[in-house]
Amino acid sequence: MKTHNILYFVSIIIVLTCSSFIETTDVDTRKKFVVVLDAGHGGKDPGNLGNGYKEKDIALKIVLAVGKELEKNPNIKVIYTRKKDEFIDLFVRGKIANKAKADLFVSVHCDSHNSQAYGAGTFVLGTHRNKTNFEVAKKENSVIFLEEDYEKNYAGFDPNSPESVMSILLTQEEYLDQSIKLAGLIQNNFANKLKRKDRKVKQAGFIVLHQTVMPSVLVELGFLTNRKEGAYLNSKNGQREMSMAIKDAILEYKSGLDKNVTNYNVVESISTNAVEIDDIIYKVQISASSKSIETKSYNFKGLDDISKIQEGSLYKYYYGNTSNYDTANGFVQEAKTKGYKSCFIVAFKDGKKIPLSEALKSTSN
Ligand SMILES: [Zn+2]
Repeated sequence: MKTHNILYFVSIIIVLTCSSFIETTDVDTRKKFVVVLDAGHGGKDPGNLGNGYKEKDIALKIVLAVGKELEKNPNIKVIYTRKKDEFIDLFVRGKIANKAKADLFVSVHCDSHNSQAYGAGTFVLGTHRNKTNFEVAKKENSVIFLEEDYEKNYAGFDPNSPESVMSILLTQEEYLDQSIKLAGLIQNNFANKLKRKDRKVKQAGFIVLHQTVMPSVLVELGFLTNRKEGAYLNSKNGQREMSMAIKDAILEYKSGLDKNVTNYNVVESISTNAVEIDDIIYKVQISASSKSIETKSYNFKGLDDISKIQEGSLYKYYYGNTSNYDTANGFVQEAKTKGYKSCFIVAFKDGKKIPLSEALKSTSN
């Protein structure tokens, strides 16, 4: 009887302890701002080896330094996709972030080139608009060939095929504004505080960003292949400076959210020259007329977002306005169902019409 009582008592204690434990962790994770830090490459994949430096090691050192600083803030929880030199599949990195319901995903890499190119850039997911961006993504994506079952895990994705990369669904679109905001803050710190060459905020088709469902950026710290920059990134001082710049940007981003949760207009606060997102715009031409018609939806079978551009004696009417070719294709389908059977996509660069083939060539070749 006595033992029975003790057991009963002990089990009550256990239940109470467990439930209070569950409650506190629940409250903790709900309140904390979760940042997932992703050191590129690792294990059998060294990343680029410019000038003999190892991308995987530099990325890890920077990530650990960023994390160590962020962890000083009691309101931030840091999760690492790797804390040591090990190989992690790209899709697993995204899974880690999604499972943690992270508020931010920051992937850190170093670039390489066969020239003495240098400078720091930050990428958000998107349809790359030029060969350089495509090449950067291709290099970072090619790691999936080292993974087992990559055909299965990436549904036939081929990093070497621009079309394949173009076809990535923009699961990140919802988070694009915030991703650009963070990327802009990071670039501002690199360029203004550290006087690094600013390679700006760009879009490209990185698989690792495609896998995540939260604002996500990929930082290319600089070029290991550049003699001076490689030495800087490999140095203690360089790593300290670059990691502080990233850490500060994450804190600035977070305090922006804290201060102005409801009215958080992210894109406006970045200087426009830091963003090369909107250089090519696609619209769908639905009609042309010598008459100037008001761009009201009732004049265009219910389609809104109509723009009118005069060309010579003709007014051309366009539906939609997007920097994403896939989205433009969606607009075409929509316009066709409304009866604009012969509508087609037109590309604009810096406000000027350019041949579609040229716009696509700059993204795919
Ligand atoms: Zn890399």
